[in-house]
Amino acid sequence: MRTVVVGGGAAGFFLAINLKEMCPAMDVTIVERGQRVLRKVEVSGGGRCNCTNTFDHVSDLQQVYPRGHRLLKRLFRQFGPRDAYQWFERHGVRLTTQTDGCVFPASQDAHTIINLFLAEARRHHINICTGADATSVAQLLADYDYVCICTGGSPRREGLQWLADVGHEIVDPVPSLFTLSIADPALTALMGTVVEHVQVLLPGTKVKADGPLLITHWGLSGPATLRLSSYGARLLSDHNYQMPLAVNWTARREPAVLDELYGIMAQYPQKQLTTIRPCGLPSRLWDYLLAKTLGERSQNRWANLNQKELNRLVNTLTNDTYQTAGRAAFKDEFVTCGGVALSSVNPANLESRHQPRLYFAGEVLDIDGVTGGFNFQAAWTTAYTAATAISECNHSC
Ligand SMILES: Cc1cc2nc3c(=O)[nH]c(=O)nc-3n(C[C@H](O)[C@H](O)[C@H](O)COP(=O)(O)OP(=O)(O)OC[C@H]3O[C@@H](n4cnc5c(N)ncnc54)[C@H](O)[C@@H]3O)c2cc1C
Repeated sequence: MRTVVVGGGAAGFFLAINLKEMCPAMDVTIVERGQRVLRKVEVSGGGRCNCTNTFDHVSDLQQVYPRGHRLLKRLFRQFGPRDAYQWFERHGVRLTTQTDGCVFPASQDAHTIINLFLAEARRHHINICTGADATSVAQLLADYDYVCICTGGSPRREGLQWLADVGHEIVDPVPSLFTLSIADPALTALMGTVVEHVQVLLPGTKVKADGPLLITHWGLSGPATLRLSSYGARLLSDHNYQMPLAVNWTARREPAVLDELYGIMAQYPQKQLTTIRPCGLPSRLWDYLLAKTLGERSQNRWANLNQKELNRLVNTLTNDTYQTAGRAAFKDEFVTCGGVALSSVNPANLESRHQPRLYFAGEVLDIDGVTGGFNFQAAWTTAYTAATAISECNHSC
């Protein structure tokens, strides 16, 4: 029996190796269009490869997989984050876990993962053909018993046309995980400012995210912005990345913030507004928000604030609205929202509903996650599922 894995990335290697472990007699070939395999693994996590996550801080999979959470919930029962962790350790990779749940090789070097995959591929005699661009499903199915598509995210719909041609529904691909440009020199002058906990949202929509925010020389970055870009990937694309965006600098509700301002007024009436910062805001940011809201009256004392000014301050602190002016990559990291529709695959084994003997794994599917090791975990889980399904068709191998 012969299996071809199209795509020499994370999902392709994981699938090929696991298939050989389950079915040693299977002849397995990886075809890769580039000259080198595993290129994204090499640059992942800033070269450290955030290879999974403990999910300890995840109460709802939809928070970390805006697309694909239902399918992954099901597939995690077969091969979840703990299984991936144990798989790597069993194969000799020592892992380390950060307090935020992100898991890396203890070597802090993505080459540890690459070297493992290459060594396992050699040990199992997996054929690797680089510089080979697969373009016809019919040809692959004619040449092999099983075909696994692990071609990763395609930035354009045309890149998925060969899969659409054989009946698969394609969800238009758009980028996810990007930072947002804001053309407001007064804001971007605060570059380098980090606010530990904000909420960002696209007004008039349900799209919102919270977490740390970083102000950069082009606009907004940091985990809250990246999550917003993931949750709102399609909406932002539809609006050409030009939409109103509101920042709640306090991540608290208006009445709670108003109470805190009343408290400061009562305790420090003679202090200048600039000297007492509410909600633990960084001083440069507080000065900016004060000037933006009160103009020259920002030099006043707390006792001199009138009710109208207080209300305006609360509004700026909790609903500070900007206009986004485009997107920018986050350290070149992005993933693709969209791809082969999940309705085109059997959720139990990831076999195509249109072509028997054809399987999918990895980012080519309409599954993507936020930063934190979640995208690799999706690749490991889907690859393991497809490998298991093929091995179960071949009890004798
Ligand atoms: C800079 C960067 C950093 C990242 N860091 C992390 C991280 O730390 N943690 C995390 O979880 N995720 C991270 N990601 C996301 C993660 O890398 C991807 O989700 C993951 O690589 C997807 O694996 P894949 O095998 O599906 O696709 P890929 O890794 O993209 O592999 C697909 C392969 O298929 C090949 N191919 C495509 N079409 C064809 C064809 N027709 N014929 C033959 N070959 C083909 C491609 O050349 C490619 O080598 C990062 C992404 C980037 C861009």
